[in-house]
Amino acid sequence: MLGFPIQYNEPLFRPPSEGRSLIIQITLGCSWNKCSFCEMYTSKRFTVRKQEDVFQDIEAFLPWADQITKVFLADGDPLVLSNAKLLPILNKLTATFPNLRRISTYASPSNINRKSQEELKELHAAGLQLLYVGIESGDNATLEAIQKGETFESTVNGINKGQEAGFDTSVMIITGVGGKLHSQQHAIKSADVLNATQPKFASTLVLTAHKGLEHYRDRFKGEFIELNLLEQLNEMKRFMQNVELEDTIFRSDHASNRLVLKGVLGRDKEMFLKQINQAIQDPLGNIRSVYGGY
Ligand code: SF4
Repeated sequence: MLGFPIQYNEPLFRPPSEGRSLIIQITLGCSWNKCSFCEMYTSKRFTVRKQEDVFQDIEAFLPWADQITKVFLADGDPLVLSNAKLLPILNKLTATFPNLRRISTYASPSNINRKSQEELKELHAAGLQLLYVGIESGDNATLEAIQKGETFESTVNGINKGQEAGFDTSVMIITGVGGKLHSQQHAIKSADVLNATQPKFASTLVLTAHKGLEHYRDRFKGEFIELNLLEQLNEMKRFMQNVELEDTIFRSDHASNRLVLKGVLGRDKEMFLKQINQAIQDPLGNIRSVYGGY
């Protein structure tokens, strides 16, 4: 869009699938901001934006109102806000953009769990449809090491509670996030979280230490030994072997993934396992460039 009508508080993040969505910042930063692998909002102090400023941003797009079909609410976890703050924003969006089909946001399991079923249903009825949940791992020891502030139980409860209220969920697992010491349990329990929640969308990405491995090790509770490429593939294989999904759109096509997998689980499980096995047999022949994609 030429002459972009609002100014974002940078840095600004969104999931890859929200590339064509209008992004409206209703909070700045992340209320948790402690995960050892995440540098997205470490430069920001968590702030709740004033409703009048959010409304001003929404109104700035009035000239393009008919063209806006998807909105993503940023930054880190807007569901930390009360419904008293969220509902007027959702109502404003649906009143302003007549062709709006979807409103989505990042959501932590804990913040979903903090809301009652009625509150979640109110949000869904007001137009919030899709929640992006960074599971990262289903293994409690790994979750503690990466300071996620969640457990297997809180994650499963949060996702299921959201889904029962009507939300679609898109979840993410990080290959290699626990390093060698946690790899086996991380793979198995991450598959278990997905099995227990059956999300509509799931994806994996590979741990990327944006500020370097030493920095990641400093933030990791315990010993972290990085996985090499073959170990990443073996972790992925174990995860895939343990996944029992009925109808989940699966992607491992983030730039960090050395092996790209796209399909539907469970339909494509055997095909994925074959592709992973091929990559294990011939890692350099079957993967995309380790350095490519960024
Ligand atoms: S909750 Fe999400 S945004 Fe916040 S620190 Fe963790 S990964 Fe980053």
